[in-house]
Amino acid sequence: MSKLDNADGQLSMPSSTLMFDVDDADQAAEYLRGALNMLGKLSVAPSPLFYTLLYTYCAGKSVRLNKELDTLLENQGSLAQDEAAALFQRFFGGAAEALVEDIRKELVAMVAQVIGSLVDIAGKTSLSSDSVSSQIEKLADTKNPTEVVAAATAILSETRQFVTDSRALEAELLSSVEEMHKLKEELSNAKREATIDGLTGVFNRRAFDKRLTDLMSMSDGLASGFCLLLLDVDNFKRINDTYGHIVGDKVLSEFAKQISRLTRRSDFIARYGGEEFAVLLPGTRITNAFTVAENIRATLERVRLRRSSSGESLGAVTVSLGVACFREGETAEQFVARSDKALYRAKRLGRNRTILAD
Ligand code: GH3
Ligand code: MG
Ligand code: MG
Repeated sequence: MSKLDNADGQLSMPSSTLMFDVDDADQAAEYLRGALNMLGKLSVAPSPLFYTLLYTYCAGKSVRLNKELDTLLENQGSLAQDEAAALFQRFFGGAAEALVEDIRKELVAMVAQVIGSLVDIAGKTSLSSDSVSSQIEKLADTKNPTEVVAAATAILSETRQFVTDSRALEAELLSSVEEMHKLKEELSNAKREATIDGLTGVFNRRAFDKRLTDLMSMSDGLASGFCLLLLDVDNFKRINDTYGHIVGDKVLSEFAKQISRLTRRSDFIARYGGEEFAVLLPGTRITNAFTVAENIRATLERVRLRRSSSGESLGAVTVSLGVACFREGETAEQFVARSDKALYRAKRLGRNRTILAD
């Protein structure tokens, strides 16, 4: 039995401080939360009568009161106004006025503490501390017990709202993060697609220009430099004219595949124009670049494409290549022009050959 219970099981109330002088702020805050919680669960008005009963119950200050309340709640699951009044009368007798004043003071202190820690936790969030502060001020000023409990209840509902808001905010943040990931992925897909040639799957001209600029800015550090192959399909117009554009497209796709297969991972293959491909070979000397070019040329010459409808062979489709090694100090245009000039010479000399640039 609690030291505060007298022989009748009723609380002795000679001094109004008797009830609360043993509660430290943390404890009191807990009893407050418990009492407000019970008020909500029982769906009863937050009147001083109910509040005082339930605070005392949560504080466990009277074993007898708790037993009686437990029995009532177990039997009927609710607490009627007249039952509460009877309990109040029995346990708190005539000391109600002083008692309520004590509760009010205690409430002010502990609500301030609860809110203080909440504001600490929620310092960076959207807790509307203005309305909470005004409730605390109301608590500090008011002498009316009904208003005390009403203010405390308002604070509780504000903090509940805060928890709900925080959860909503968290969910919102999570979905924003998800959305951001999706957008990032879409962006990187779009970026990748913007660098790829739709027909052949190798890089496009734009990506080539960028890679060339990048290699040029790095070439100081590349002891062996880098080379460029420019490849143009011979008499391609004739293929289109004879077999149609769709077949022409298939030739371009197949050649792109073959070029990819015949070069290294670190090499960079792009469709430079209609039936023209460019291959950048980093860390490669001109003699090796020539060998790679000749290997591509000889392999493509041997490829035999057939029309799927008739099985008819297209015969040998050849390519011409110009090869140049990047010279320190030249511009990208000059470098490409040298390769192009070599390619042009390959065409003039009869096609199906590789020519080194000057
Ligand atoms: P050369 O040996 O001098 O290069 O002769 P060529 O016929 O290959 O050169 P020309 O520049 O006269 O013709 C190139 C042809 O390539 C004309 C164009 O219609 C065709 N072409 C360009 N892009 C595509 C494409 O994406 N698909 C198809 N099927 N044909 C294309
Ligand atoms: Mg051409
Ligand atoms: Mg051509």
